[in-house]
Amino acid sequence: MVKRERLMLPKPRSSFLLIQCSNCSNEQVVFSNATMLVKCNGCGAPIAQNTGGRVKILGTLLKRLD
Ligand SMILES: [Zn+2]
Repeated sequence: MVKRERLMLPKPRSSFLLIQCSNCSNEQVVFSNATMLVKCNGCGAPIAQNTGGRVKILGTLLKRLD
């Protein structure tokens, strides 16, 4: 039998994060499974970076949009 415990995960693996750039205060929605460096639309500063499956927030995380 195949184990079904994966179906019991409380949250999906992916979600969207609202991140504020620490450089120019621009607010931007970032996909949590982003596969590369995410840059601010306002000033170009990096606001999120993928670190082997998990996104590292470089700006300020305002909220999570599931
Ligand atoms: Zn910015």
